[in-house]
Amino acid sequence: MEKDVRIRHLTDEVEETRQRLKNVHKQLMNMSAQMSHRSHFPFTSAQVFHVWLKKASGAPLSRLNPRLRRSNIISRILYRWRIASLNDSWKRRRDAALRTQADRHKSAFQSLENERDFLKAEVFSLQSQMKEEVIKRESFQTQLKRFIDGGFDDLTPPQTTRINTPSLVTHKCTLSHRPTRRSKSCKPIRLYIVCIDSVSPSFLLPSMFCRRIAPSVRRWFVPSSRYFSDQPISLDRVRNIGISAHVDSGKTTLSERVLFYTGRIEEIHEIQGRDGVGAKMDHMELERERGITITSAATSCLWNVDTDTFKPDSKGQYYINLIDTPGHVDFTIEVERALRVLDGAVMLVCGVKGVQSQTLTVDRQMTRYQVPRIIFINKLDRSGSDPFRAIADIRKKLGLKLGAIQVPIGAEKDLLGVVDVIGMKPIFFEGSQGQKRRSGNMNEVAESVRNHAESVRAELIESLTDVDDEFAEKVIDSGEESLTEEDFHSAIRRATIARTFVPVLMGSAYKNKGVQTLLDAVCSYLPAPGDRKYVALNADKDEQEEPIESNSNKPFIGMAFKIQDLPGQGNVSYVRIYQGKLKKGDQIVDAKNRSKKMSVKRLLRMHSSEVKDITVVGAGDIVGITGIEVDSGATLTDGKLPYVMTTMFVPDPVVSLSIKLNDRSGDPTKFTKALNRFKREDPTFRVHFDDQTKETIISGMGELHLEVYAERIRREYGLNVVTGEPKVNYRETITAQAPFDYTHKKQTGGRGQYGKIVGYMEPIPEEEVADVNKSVQFVSQFSDPSFNQGFFNAIQKGFMECASKGLLTGSQCINMRFVMTDGKAHEVDSSELAFKLAAQGCYEQAFPNAGPKILEPIMKVQVYAPCETQTQVITSLTGRQGSITDATAVSSEVSLIEAAVPLRTMFGYISDLRAVTQGHGEYSMEFLEYAPMPSSDQEALVAKLSKK
Ligand code: GDP
Repeated sequence: MEKDVRIRHLTDEVEETRQRLKNVHKQLMNMSAQMSHRSHFPFTSAQVFHVWLKKASGAPLSRLNPRLRRSNIISRILYRWRIASLNDSWKRRRDAALRTQADRHKSAFQSLENERDFLKAEVFSLQSQMKEEVIKRESFQTQLKRFIDGGFDDLTPPQTTRINTPSLVTHKCTLSHRPTRRSKSCKPIRLYIVCIDSVSPSFLLPSMFCRRIAPSVRRWFVPSSRYFSDQPISLDRVRNIGISAHVDSGKTTLSERVLFYTGRIEEIHEIQGRDGVGAKMDHMELERERGITITSAATSCLWNVDTDTFKPDSKGQYYINLIDTPGHVDFTIEVERALRVLDGAVMLVCGVKGVQSQTLTVDRQMTRYQVPRIIFINKLDRSGSDPFRAIADIRKKLGLKLGAIQVPIGAEKDLLGVVDVIGMKPIFFEGSQGQKRRSGNMNEVAESVRNHAESVRAELIESLTDVDDEFAEKVIDSGEESLTEEDFHSAIRRATIARTFVPVLMGSAYKNKGVQTLLDAVCSYLPAPGDRKYVALNADKDEQEEPIESNSNKPFIGMAFKIQDLPGQGNVSYVRIYQGKLKKGDQIVDAKNRSKKMSVKRLLRMHSSEVKDITVVGAGDIVGITGIEVDSGATLTDGKLPYVMTTMFVPDPVVSLSIKLNDRSGDPTKFTKALNRFKREDPTFRVHFDDQTKETIISGMGELHLEVYAERIRREYGLNVVTGEPKVNYRETITAQAPFDYTHKKQTGGRGQYGKIVGYMEPIPEEEVADVNKSVQFVSQFSDPSFNQGFFNAIQKGFMECASKGLLTGSQCINMRFVMTDGKAHEVDSSELAFKLAAQGCYEQAFPNAGPKILEPIMKVQVYAPCETQTQVITSLTGRQGSITDATAVSSEVSLIEAAVPLRTMFGYISDLRAVTQGHGEYSMEFLEYAPMPSSDQEALVAKLSKK
């Protein structure tokens, strides 16, 4: 069908071009006729003289003085001379005019001739394309007929190569089928599929071949593999991965190398725009200026694995969707949502510092979403780096089952490459940007490296024997000597996907060492979309879990994991397609509101801030969509399935500050628009209006988080905004039971208000709390059939509203329960409003007697500082009410001090730290827990707030 359309399209194009050619030809003919007509001067000398005389006298010749006509000899001579001179001058002018005219005509003629030649060539090329199409169609038909006649059981996933032509995408694919009873042999068949406008061949296969060519065949096997619309790669060769780590571990530096080696960018640029450009994945101006990643960036690239690794046909091209995530704890939601939708991840660990605070957070996030991972120990070129110390640290702190599959050749500034302990071969990265990967001979490396590689290999065998039964059996049955490279790779792959093992690679992203081998490992060990088991919750069946499949032929299910307003593109929703396919123009719905259809305006292949329009996308892929308005974390479906996917974990904001326009000229609508946009894009960024202080309050994960948004409002919206002092987001709770007995009674003429509630409030024991930070419960032990159910609802609502504003600091209350034991209603005067107000009265009556406590966020702080300043650093932390949990030397020079410190004392710590470490110390912190505030501090805080 598609092919017919293509041929029809080509025929029309030929016809149209021919018509244009005809017109050009006609124009050429006219012009050449004109040119030959004007090739001589159109007037005689006499005519010229006549005109001259007429001009001179202002009258026709016939009316001139007869004396002039009856001229004497002199006058005749004069007349002749005049004529002759006139003729000469006219001739000169005529020639000049002719020359300019001819030049003009010549260039016009030339361009018409060029156009004619171009059109002729176009007609010719279109005709040959048409011929090719027809030939291919015939060859399709005959080959397929032969194929069908042979019978088939199954088609193996097509191996495809892409032949680029400027206007078409031609896919050459080889399909093969298993022998059946009718066809004894298994013959591969080569098909050429010409796709218009990059329509995926997997969508053409069923429609073109199956229905048109062999309508009699009922059961068609549609290959389980799928192609990316713009990248013809089968699903088992797709990897959706993220790079996550502690801030400054080198994620962006590594992503830049990945893009360079995969040919996605032509040059490597360093972070912070040191070379005036900045890393590709840090596309925001602010990111480049500050050298930090603020938002995660998505891109895709192709990587060629040139040896068979985990199975005989694993060699070849892989398609990698890559997400570079921020490392700073303030932007942790970006990591959270990326890991929610990715199939695998690369976890970076610094070869000098080992496990850092954010490494622990990333580890928790990877565990939460069950993401298989590879670890890359980076920065081995730095002095004091030691990959095996980092491995020991990971084992100790993260409790992972690890196995190094490489050892470094050389150390620190002499790092040359790595030894692959599976193949026992050294790999060197040569060339100015490490682009030449060379496999060497073990004789090229020092004996100590050889011995080290041997022992690491032995350890790897031991670890794999522990985690993979198939590998263990092989070792037991045939001995270690019989192990092939493929045995290792397959076992590592199985164990990595099962998350019982993590392979460890190493190198230096900055010095371009080890990145290519990491890419090989991504393709060999991390899962394809089909290797992970995903489930959705069936909303119609009490949220029962239903499996979903990475299959483009099933109904569409996707998840919008990130919303971003991209300059020039508008509102882009990043969507992971879990099942089915999506085409431009398709109607989809948000699973929360299935009645509202949204149309997919554009499908975009993302490359950091750049986009490429595509027309169709299949299961397992990640794309940008415009035209839909959803919140991040929304499940998208085609409206047929009642499925919802579990959404991602959103941590509560811990810091707030007030923000306002600094001058009257600022547009308040723009200000609101900016805040709403950021709120929609980032679920950890909250905005509310404080009625008491009449201020707009923004809350987020840290000072930097809020500072970045304030700066973005200034830059992206041109608004001059000022922010207040950062404030901690406290919580309140109670520690004892306190009774309440309150009657709300009001009689103001007409119908009055009456509601009586009796009961108590009590703390919820911690073991009963499902979600410690949000639990407020209402329980009724009072049953009176005459008591309206609506009153119970109003009482519950009243208590919940009160609990959202504690009486000490106005913060959210947690871990408390309201129990109603008795109540009384009035036949006429009771109403829902009356009971809501009664609940408020109960709360105000009981709360002060229930031992109220302020809970404050405690941060886990990690400080790296020179060993000689360790004591001063410890003092600086204890001075801020911190309790030191660990202090160790990570190298001969650097100490790591860990402490739990209240967030309220940490504002401005960086300048303190710099002072005590002479500028050499650095720290990071992340939220640890909410803990009760010391009583003296609580009293001081309450007094301070009540003064305000
Ligand atoms: P991210 O915060 O994890 O994205 O880290 P970046 O990629 O922004 O890198 C942080 C800093 O570490 C930058 O100054 C990099 O140049 C540097 N860096 C990254 N990788 C390496 C490495 O392998 N060796 C050395 N010496 N520096 C590195």
